[in-house]
Amino acid sequence: MLTKPQLKALKDCVAADDLLVDTADCWAYGYDNSRQQACPDAVVFARGAEQLQAVVQFCNHYRVPLIPRGLGTGTTGATVPAEGGLVVSYERMNRIISIVPDDRLVIVEPGVTNQALQTAVAEHGFFWPPDPTSAAYSTIGGNLAYNSAGPRAVKYGTPRENTLGLQAITGAGESIQTGVRTTKGVVGYDLTRLLIGSEGTLALFTQATLKLTPLSEGRRTLRAVYADMSSAAHAVAAIMAQPVIPRSLEFIDGMAIEMIRAYSEASLPEAAGAMLMIEVDGARDCLETAAQTLRRVAATAGCLEVTVARNEAEVKALWATRKALSPALRNVAPKKINEDIVVPVSRMPELIRGLRELSERYGVTIVNFGHAGNGNIHVNMLVDPDDEQQMAAAGPCLDEVFALVLRLDGSLSGEHGIGLVKRDFIAREIAPATLALMRRIKRQFDPNGILNPGKLFPPA
Ligand SMILES: Cc1cc2nc3c(=O)[nH]c(=O)nc-3n(C[C@H](O)[C@H](O)[C@H](O)COP(=O)(O)OP(=O)(O)OC[C@H]3O[C@@H](n4cnc5c(N)ncnc54)[C@H](O)[C@@H]3O)c2cc1C
Repeated sequence: MLTKPQLKALKDCVAADDLLVDTADCWAYGYDNSRQQACPDAVVFARGAEQLQAVVQFCNHYRVPLIPRGLGTGTTGATVPAEGGLVVSYERMNRIISIVPDDRLVIVEPGVTNQALQTAVAEHGFFWPPDPTSAAYSTIGGNLAYNSAGPRAVKYGTPRENTLGLQAITGAGESIQTGVRTTKGVVGYDLTRLLIGSEGTLALFTQATLKLTPLSEGRRTLRAVYADMSSAAHAVAAIMAQPVIPRSLEFIDGMAIEMIRAYSEASLPEAAGAMLMIEVDGARDCLETAAQTLRRVAATAGCLEVTVARNEAEVKALWATRKALSPALRNVAPKKINEDIVVPVSRMPELIRGLRELSERYGVTIVNFGHAGNGNIHVNMLVDPDDEQQMAAAGPCLDEVFALVLRLDGSLSGEHGIGLVKRDFIAREIAPATLALMRRIKRQFDPNGILNPGKLFPPA
């Protein structure tokens, strides 16, 4: 709780309308999609760099934790004020400052939602490639701080590949500018890439310059069904090794197919053990050739059928099977444990085999789907919180899932980040010397450790 002198000092740097201190008001800013919650001592609505600099100075002076928050849709607890302090909400700092079509860039405040940005730049014939499913209710600041992405990342990349520069206030209270306004540049260290994915532990973003991409003239959708995951993974490798790069390449495994069959009408061959959804985009004249190339390349050994949609109705029908999965999962396990690990594409068959073994050994159903082209797999452990035996098995099983991923040269998170919930695992992926360097970098940006304490790294 803030003391009276602290509250007075805070009121000196924040307008009354931009400050919440009643516990009832503050609770709503203490959760995210990790389902963890803690009540902040106060909530400040960000308005601009000057105000934020004053707030950072206040937090340094009184050693008060400061937690930046977009719209709280993150899944790993990075916005949860576990140690109390101030939550800085960006919901009112959401202007699109300028769109510069000739330079293919847009300058925004961090609180703008991904969808609002896409709508604004579409009028100029552009899009910003990062496309988390939460686009309508997640902010650019959150997308940058978690390096969030979606299916399009396979062709167009993540925020790290689509951000030219940032303005930010460091934990020390310095106003900094990183990057360039050009699509090339190599002057100094790449602090833009460092800040992206830093989960609000190094600096508060105040402005972002984003690289835009021209909208395609159309897209074609294909669905390929395989006898098993190994055949599908070989197809993924083949697809990614030829020049027609799909705009999305999503997969679901055999267990997911079984689940869809049990809970909906799936028009899939009886022997289906894995499925790929493939989309290609580009100039209208090239689309048919591109679709036929992908149809041919996807038909590797073990392929049971490849279907190319000829019209919107057929596109919908092909996606219907994939879209049936989420409601099916919600039906079976409303409290599933969802991890978003990544492995090199060539190791996906070993991963799926290993996950099946773990599933059998621990008696936990594991359903896998995700962004196959990036090897980014959503591993869903379906556990029932009321089943003591399953809950006891879940922890050790998850531990072995992570060990398996690291043995396969993978990484613990492709897009959801570390936050609170995975911080105890970070040392399993990052070597001690590298981790120590990261902690030193954190101290350079934030010497008093006020920014998002307890996130990303386990306590020293
Ligand atoms: C239904 C649903 C679907 C989702 N789908 C996807 C998906 O497809 N792909 C994906 O990657 N993620 C997905 N997510 C997770 C989540 O939406 C993303 O991580 C998103 O980028 C978070 O944005 P946010 O505005 O909610 O940020 P928050 O959750 O509020 O914050 C996320 C992180 O950003 C930091 N932060 C926020 N603003 C700033 C700022 N201005 N300066 C510095 N740090 C800041 C916070 O401190 C925190 O560390 C999904 C979530 C839900 C609920």
